[in-house]
Amino acid sequence: MADMRLVIVGAAGRMGQALVRAIADRDGAVVCGAVERQGSPLLGKDIGELAGTGPSGILVCDDPQAVFAKADGVIDFTSPAVSVEFAALTAQMGLVHVIGTTGLEAQHENSIARAAEGATIIKSGNMSLGVNLLSVLVQQAAKALEAADWDIEVLEMHHKHKVDAPSGTAYLLAKAAAQGRDIDLESHSVRVRDGQTGPREPGTIGFATLRGGSVVGEHSVILAGEGETVELTHRALDRTIFARGAIKAALWGQGRKPGLYSMLDVLGLS
Ligand code: NAD
Repeated sequence: MADMRLVIVGAAGRMGQALVRAIADRDGAVVCGAVERQGSPLLGKDIGELAGTGPSGILVCDDPQAVFAKADGVIDFTSPAVSVEFAALTAQMGLVHVIGTTGLEAQHENSIARAAEGATIIKSGNMSLGVNLLSVLVQQAAKALEAADWDIEVLEMHHKHKVDAPSGTAYLLAKAAAQGRDIDLESHSVRVRDGQTGPREPGTIGFATLRGGSVVGEHSVILAGEGETVELTHRALDRTIFARGAIKAALWGQGRKPGLYSMLDVLGLS
């Protein structure tokens, strides 16, 4: 089969560049376009040179429509409103669209679900094998350890540039815990604690967020009982794990019918 032709949107970002390097390192996919925001000082630069893989002849542009027309798929780690705009385009063109962007709110999720009628969308707050496996373990643990006796807290730390909280991964893990408990996450989650909070309400799922330095991503789900705690932890040491997962998702989506899929589908863990 010919190599899958992929456009990287947000190509000059941290994940965009990690994707360009990861694609250069593997068979089966090639970068055929690199898109950045209008006004970016990097427009017109060679994306291979920016990412450190050497000249590629692919110049960063701000015309998604033109490069999508030559592509089989799009990999998108940008921001919520931007991913929604790209999803409308990939739906029109019937492309594979891998969305790693986090911080999506209900209106973004709804627009992406509509776009998935035309595009094959694979969306996940974390594209790594380890975190997706962890989410399955969290669901099992939350089911096995009863809410009356075991409190669940999700703790995360990320680098100081991250703009949304809780992280997409913290949310993904909390959702897995809520599924294990058969409860609705929104009505059972405690996002922030400050001042006189009163005692912890049983059955809730708490979030705690740390930010600093260059930490790629650390997540722990802590199940705290009387006299013992169980901690399930994942540490991302390198962004490459997300890039490799996103490329795997794009290849998995090739030839698959339009719809909204997750990394659990890609990894056969759903
Ligand atoms: P970043 O800020 O380094 O990169 C985002 C890039 O998108 C920037 O270069 C920006 O200029 C570009 N952009 C903005 N508007 C655009 C537009 N209209 N068209 C094209 N490009 C545009 O951020 P990052 O660290 O690479 O993270 C990006 C997103 O991916 C965040 O939401 C982050 O939380 C998420 N993320 C997800 C995973 C995962 O596994 N799902 C892993 C890491 C990061």
